[in-house]
Amino acid sequence: MKIQKISYCPECHSTEAVPYKKYDTVHNGPRYLHKCVECNAIFSETIGTPMEHLKSPISKVASALRIRSEGMGLRATGRVLNMHKNTVSTWEQLFADQKETLMLYSFCHNFVSLVFEGDELYTIVNKRSEPSSSKGWTAVIMERSSRFIVEQQCGNKDANLFESVMLTVCEYIAQTDDLSFLSDGERRYGNTLFSLCAEALRNDKPGRPPVVLPPGVKVRVKNKGDQKHKRGPKRPKYQAPVKEHPETKQDLSESDIHANHVEANNAAMRRRNSAYRRRTNTYAKSTSGLQRTLDVHLLIHNFVRKHWTTGEVPAVAMGVLRAPLGLEDILKMQQYS
Ligand SMILES: [Zn+2]
Repeated sequence: MKIQKISYCPECHSTEAVPYKKYDTVHNGPRYLHKCVECNAIFSETIGTPMEHLKSPISKVASALRIRSEGMGLRATGRVLNMHKNTVSTWEQLFADQKETLMLYSFCHNFVSLVFEGDELYTIVNKRSEPSSSKGWTAVIMERSSRFIVEQQCGNKDANLFESVMLTVCEYIAQTDDLSFLSDGERRYGNTLFSLCAEALRNDKPGRPPVVLPPGVKVRVKNKGDQKHKRGPKRPKYQAPVKEHPETKQDLSESDIHANHVEANNAAMRRRNSAYRRRTNTYAKSTSGLQRTLDVHLLIHNFVRKHWTTGEVPAVAMGVLRAPLGLEDILKMQQYS
């Protein structure tokens, strides 16, 4: 799919518009007012984009995002660009708000097969606390071969956190006939997926029909713990924790399941996102601030930057985009509403 810059009318959503008037901006060159062919509404070409209410040059906004995505903290970025740190975080939020629009591209695509991996990483929000009571848990879901980040959300490590990421996974179930979900020991991914999308299996047998995952959907969890020193029969290394549909192909080998690419990604996250760096004081001050940096990271990781192992931009590798996007392209994109 190719992203085209179409300004649609804010009144009637028509994409048929003609140039109405040209005007010059201080930092961003000439801009056009458009006139809707359908309803005659007049609107600016930046309507609905992050640049709509910004007077700063788009190149400066992109620079701030680029510096931050290399791991520099908010204050340091502000000092380098000679601006207030709050302006940097406002720009980040405007960029992060493009997540919904951009992720829609992957919901409009059909995939032959998808292998998702789930993992968690942890950082400190505001003050140090016991990990169990921390709001700095981050659940990350990644598509294996493309390294596309399907979702990442932060918060307490509880049912809400797992539900918030697995709701996105559910969106992909309709997009493919073959979806595997792998996790390195955490069972709540599979259990949450089951509670969100399991369905009654229609068969001719009497009694209440069994409840199973939709056809084509598999979940595998690694059995943790030292197996050598345990008595009794050896447990399999991986198990299917929830009931699967009888028509689902059981063709995952142990070596297929074994690799963990999210773990490798976590190392990059600690380097590239200052809020996840260890032994420093650049921790996030709030969960909403942390989520903002996660959304910015997800967009740049998926749509802008080549992955260090595949050499491709994940959204291109996954087949949802023909060519990578630049930071400025994303800043000029109209939000889907
Ligand atoms: Zn219109």
